[in-house]
Amino acid sequence: MPLHKGPEKRDERPLSVNPFYGEADPVGGMTEAPPKHRLPDAPLPPSTAYQLVHDELMLDGNSRLNLATFVTTWMEPQAGVLMGECRDKNMIDKDEYPRTAELERRCVAMLADLWNAPDPAAAVGCSTTGSSEACMLAGMALKRRWSKRNPKPGARPNLVMGINVQVCWDKFCNFWEVEPRLIPMEGDRFHLDPQAAAALCDENTIGVVAILGSTFDGSYEPVADLCAALDELQERTGLDIPVHVDGASGGMVAPFLDPDLAWDFRLPRVASINTSGHKYGLVYPGVGWALWRDHDALPEELVFRVNYLGGDMPTFALNFSRPGAQVVAQYYTFLRLGREGYRAVQQTTRDVAGRLAERIEALGDFRLLTRGDQLPVFAFTTGHDVTAYDVFDVSRRLRESGWLVPAYTFPPHREDLSVLRVVCRNGFSADLAELFVDDLRRLLPELRRQPHPLTKDKGAATGFHH
Ligand SMILES: *Cc1c(COP(=O)(O)O)cnc(C)c1O
Repeated sequence: MPLHKGPEKRDERPLSVNPFYGEADPVGGMTEAPPKHRLPDAPLPPSTAYQLVHDELMLDGNSRLNLATFVTTWMEPQAGVLMGECRDKNMIDKDEYPRTAELERRCVAMLADLWNAPDPAAAVGCSTTGSSEACMLAGMALKRRWSKRNPKPGARPNLVMGINVQVCWDKFCNFWEVEPRLIPMEGDRFHLDPQAAAALCDENTIGVVAILGSTFDGSYEPVADLCAALDELQERTGLDIPVHVDGASGGMVAPFLDPDLAWDFRLPRVASINTSGHKYGLVYPGVGWALWRDHDALPEELVFRVNYLGGDMPTFALNFSRPGAQVVAQYYTFLRLGREGYRAVQQTTRDVAGRLAERIEALGDFRLLTRGDQLPVFAFTTGHDVTAYDVFDVSRRLRESGWLVPAYTFPPHREDLSVLRVVCRNGFSADLAELFVDDLRRLLPELRRQPHPLTKDKGAATGFHH
């Protein structure tokens, strides 16, 4: 998302006075298009303002055909009603809205249980606007724990992670002046390597981030092996390096579909975990969660107490005011689905991903990097003998049928590799997946007849969302 700049020069002509559109009557109605880049001088009737905004938004994409995003695009009507009922509730106002605060507390307790905190009563956590804010908070806790260990004067903290981390970790390192130590990709390894991670650690390492569900290809990083490598490092050197698991997606997939995979608080080295409630937590955008194993993992001095809204509630957040609706919707979804329900929804999504990956492989032109059997997400590229077109051509041509499938190059050491990625979500049904394969198959003869890859502006063709 670019930082928005000032207006471009446009001529703003008068609207024709159409009695069928808005309230285009001469008395208090619309005779001229309102300015778009400065506040209009006078009010508009609500129906006219509504019509203008509504019409412009018709040009936004159809979110159900967007296979780029991880974020929830469908909820039940009842969730929508609850969210509407809560749209005026401010999450920070815990004294005025004690029940909303209580629902947040229950969600934290449910997640602590789901993620196998050894003592769920000792775990602490909070809701956030998404995983990015949750990762900032978790990173700040790691950094503060490091600085309390009395590093040498002038020492610079560092954070170890795979080069495939989501951009929020680059932001964290930039904003909080922490050196990012990135483990490059190597050959067919597209995420963190435990031994390489341990080798990058020193006395100024605030922690290692492991991603449960890499945004690049949907693969789980080997959290347990990472912890074992860091145990071994501690035995050898005495360095005790905590792990944060970025479970933005996988935090709400693995507990239901891979219950035997130890990636969470079952591993003593895992100090904190985040997830995006608005990804596989199945809530509309605007909610994430950050949890710490216990009070030791979250230094007390980072937590603020405010009394000017009445009451005395501890808060740890970057924002102050924030809507309560998403937290309520998360609680609704937890209550509505339970473990069985989540398992069924996520299994269906993973089945769709696995089937779709197979069907794409069977087309013959493509090579799968992942198969959608961890996150319901997979990446694929063109086969070695495909020279007439590339993944950017496929992405651009799929847009003609409304499908948004990002194409992008991999980071250093594998920049040679360009892929397409499909993110399957609840609402992307087996039927829609069939239609998608049909559309892709229909494109192939034309693509194969190209003299060479044709997409010049590769950036414009893509639309990669972490
Ligand atoms: C999406 C994602 C994030 C950022 O989450 P938001 O909820 O969009 O802020 C961070 N890490 C990973 C691994 C992600 O997939």
